[in-house]
Amino acid sequence: MALAEITERMRAAEARAGRQAGSVRLIAVSKIQPGDRVEAVLDQGHRRFGENYVQEAGTKWPAWKARYPGVELHMIGPLQTNKAKVAVELFDVIHSVDRPSLAESLAKLAGSRGKSPDLFIQVNTGEEPQKAGILPAQADDFIAACRMMDLPVQGLMCIPPEDEHPAPHFTLLAAIAARNGLSGLSMGMSADFETAIEHGATHIRVGSAIFGARSAASVRR
Ligand SMILES: *Cc1c(COP(=O)(O)O)cnc(C)c1O
Repeated sequence: MALAEITERMRAAEARAGRQAGSVRLIAVSKIQPGDRVEAVLDQGHRRFGENYVQEAGTKWPAWKARYPGVELHMIGPLQTNKAKVAVELFDVIHSVDRPSLAESLAKLAGSRGKSPDLFIQVNTGEEPQKAGILPAQADDFIAACRMMDLPVQGLMCIPPEDEHPAPHFTLLAAIAARNGLSGLSMGMSADFETAIEHGATHIRVGSAIFGARSAASVRR
């Protein structure tokens, strides 16, 4: 099981970056993974997991949450407005706040529930048309608008373009966060989490490097 190896590589990257050991949080991305692989990681004591799909997470996690106290669940995939109500019940943190209509729905839900998951705003640092996220030029205004709605914005999230070096994207995200007084940086996946840590990531989202490849046959969309 690769969890120990990932943790070791995280500690080394933290040390290289002059950051405190254990200061980066590992989100184990369990989307579309067989249940026994996820349970193996839960049995090793890990409790922070990420999922991309509300429906899939809703079928898997209530039972695991009951069986393994202390689970912290992170929503990292695009969130449809009509699934926001289910998402705020299921997730502790949502990393994919990417548009005003979703922010407004989350604010309404926070008002009626009296609480909200912690939130990260997704920034489309590569300005890719097919990718979710607020454009970098609109990020300051969107962050301010979310704060006006009293949303608990903890930081920013990005997914760099697959065919580019990720470092400039991590640098851009960190700069937008810094000028807006946000401390959270959700960036870095299996292929680039060490680079992300060296650029200030506070939360890394690692799937296949922990669980193994996601089987194409079980991909749901
Ligand atoms: C699937 C996914 C990950 C994990 O990807 P790996 O390459 O398997 O580590 C991280 N972040 C997001 C947003 C994802 O969709």
